[in-house]
Amino acid sequence: MVKQLVAAQNEFFATQKTKEVAHRKQYLIKLQQEMLDQEDAVCDALYADFKKPKFESLATETQLVLAELKHAIKNVKSWSKSNRVGASLLNFPSKEWIQPEPYGKVLVISPWNYPFMLTMSPLIGALAAGNTAILKPSEFSPNTSKIIARIIRKVFPPEYVTVVEGGVEVSTELLAEKWEYIFFTGSTRVGKIVYKKAAEHLTPVTLELSGKNPCIVDETAAITLAAKRIAWGKLINAGQTCIAPDYILVHKNVKRALVDGLKANINQFYGENIEASNDFARITTSKHYEELKAMLKGQNLLFGGNYNDDDQYLEPTLVDEPQEDSTIMEGEVFGPILPIISYEDESELDEYISRFPNSLAFYVFSNNKKFQKRMMRQYSFGGGTINDVVVHISNKDLPFGGVGQSGIGGYHGKYSFDLFSHHKSIVKRGTWLDVPLRYAPYNISLNLIRKIKYFF
Ligand code: NAD
Repeated sequence: MVKQLVAAQNEFFATQKTKEVAHRKQYLIKLQQEMLDQEDAVCDALYADFKKPKFESLATETQLVLAELKHAIKNVKSWSKSNRVGASLLNFPSKEWIQPEPYGKVLVISPWNYPFMLTMSPLIGALAAGNTAILKPSEFSPNTSKIIARIIRKVFPPEYVTVVEGGVEVSTELLAEKWEYIFFTGSTRVGKIVYKKAAEHLTPVTLELSGKNPCIVDETAAITLAAKRIAWGKLINAGQTCIAPDYILVHKNVKRALVDGLKANINQFYGENIEASNDFARITTSKHYEELKAMLKGQNLLFGGNYNDDDQYLEPTLVDEPQEDSTIMEGEVFGPILPIISYEDESELDEYISRFPNSLAFYVFSNNKKFQKRMMRQYSFGGGTINDVVVHISNKDLPFGGVGQSGIGGYHGKYSFDLFSHHKSIVKRGTWLDVPLRYAPYNISLNLIRKIKYFF
């Protein structure tokens, strides 16, 4: 089946239909309409998958995608235009421009944590740029995967966009094909597998991966607000957010105030009986749920630690000063568990942060401008926020992505269009003049060549 779909998409792309901007726009509008019709059904599917609260489904999945769609519909025409550049004197007479063109078939592989948004958002960029696409959502969010498949079936013929549902075997089968672009969101481990498969065909990739995101709170920070914002950003989606703060590095003089603030806010958000709150999601996969529980063994807890195996509920949990070699400080936590580590002197920070490769996100709470600047410059990470967490994802004019171990490439808004486009450079020469300098026999003075500098 995969081979047939791939052949059908190749054939469709070859018709040049997707190069018509009107065609792209027409389908983006159809997708928008269907998404508006199905928004509640999408929220229901997310709830069925991991009790995702409706507010969070709207705010972090459907409305983000709708905003991205609206922006693409409004701008696809101007994005798709060729961009004239200043002509080189050496080419005189000429016109020179950059012409964006689609790559062809795009494969989008997505994870379970924001299963709707992380499948649809890349699709919008791929379509705006004129590609066809095959989507492979995660097998661990099966209800969302089904509704995505239903929406796509309703809007697109399969030779244009289609969904292939399933797990690792299906993903492996898809990766065995030749793609013109692969967009993968998921773990760094699987990202490396995808990159290897892509390399066989020299297929360009975007890899949206993971990292261990530090969150520094210094002595000068507005602690009450910091505690509130950190508790919010850590606990939306029950901590299953790739850019959630992973661990806190807090100055010892303000640790107590921060911990008290975190506890107070957790109870403020979800009440005393957090399990009964409708505003707190569950852990999506049983494997990950077990891993998270295991991380808590032997740890000193400042808050939480309760769980319920019946529906994979894990209480928001604050861990006090974990050992550097404990599992919780080995890799990404990816759940509602927040390790809190105190420091006394700024020089200690580097020891922690440098233990991990490039994080996907980086957070600093401080009112010391020099410190903020120093931290933002010193470390290499995907993106970050000063005095808040997570919100750098919300601006479509900021490219979202990782660096090094946390990924390759950035998207959203116009950056998505550019990501899914090859930018062709074209020179159109005039024929009424032909300066003879470049032709043999080379009688021109070598000094003149040095002055001209660039021949090609
Ligand atoms: P994952 O890497 O296990 O799976 C992602 C996708 O890859 C799924 O569709 C899965 O079916 C497929 N897959 C899994 N194993 C495969 C294999 N061996 N070969 C081919 N395909 C395979 O990730 P996950 O557990 O679904 O998601 C959680 C991870 O994703 C976390 O590490 C998180 O940080 C990361 N993430 C990153 C971003 C980002 O934007 N950078 C966003 C969300 C999640």
